[in-house]
Amino acid sequence: MNGSTVGPDQGGAPVFRVGREPLSDRRRRAETIAERLAAAHPDADCSLDFENPFQLLVATILSAQCTDKRVNMVTGGLFRRWPSAAALAGARQRDLEAVIKSTGFYRAKAKNILGCCRALLERHGGEVPRSLPDLVKLPGVGRKTANVVLGSAFGLAEGIVVDTHVGRITRRLGLTRRADAVQAERDLVKVVPRDHWVAFSHRLIAHGRTICPARTPRCTLCPLADLCPRVGVGPRPGRKRSARRPAAKKPRHP
Ligand code: SF4
Repeated sequence: MNGSTVGPDQGGAPVFRVGREPLSDRRRRAETIAERLAAAHPDADCSLDFENPFQLLVATILSAQCTDKRVNMVTGGLFRRWPSAAALAGARQRDLEAVIKSTGFYRAKAKNILGCCRALLERHGGEVPRSLPDLVKLPGVGRKTANVVLGSAFGLAEGIVVDTHVGRITRRLGLTRRADAVQAERDLVKVVPRDHWVAFSHRLIAHGRTICPARTPRCTLCPLADLCPRVGVGPRPGRKRSARRPAAKKPRHP
């Protein structure tokens, strides 16, 4: 890394301005981040339960705006009742809605899942395609879902999964400034080495859960501290969070 843009200052904080960091420096920094995440979270993996690409595709559609834990509570029964794309394509929408209701947005999800299964039958013989362009043409499947399926079910590194956690932490790490997931992914694939793409998201999610949650990052324990422009953003040891001020009362008008 270029010492003029990245490196500890006298107070121990990294010295670099994310917007001005040359791409070659950011690439080296991203590679080191990916390697340290691999060392810190070697077993991080997809937390959705699945036995085949079809199950992962359906589970990932269900995981929008829902925890993986909740999805896993639903999919066991769902796949026992409808074990394949052909079986699920023949389900009645209201029956599927009843099974997936607890995952939220169940009407839209049921419609997308049925549309997706019918498209799998019509276009791909009931199998999940192994290509990003084919996957994103299926109802309810965007780049994120397609990348999850390609990476975790087929082991294909076609992109980097950017969910809310990956977006938040990579912005903190100065690897992207984009809030939009597709644009953030475009930034990340330029700097993260391809052989880390599939695991990078799982490891970042594990890092977010254990070290760098949104409200209370534990920078003093973080293996990425010397590579992170936001080090120290969390609450300082020994300092209590101040209680929120009560909202000012609205003036009463006669
Ligand atoms: S814990 Fe702190 S140093 Fe580590 S990635 Fe999060 S903000 Fe950066």
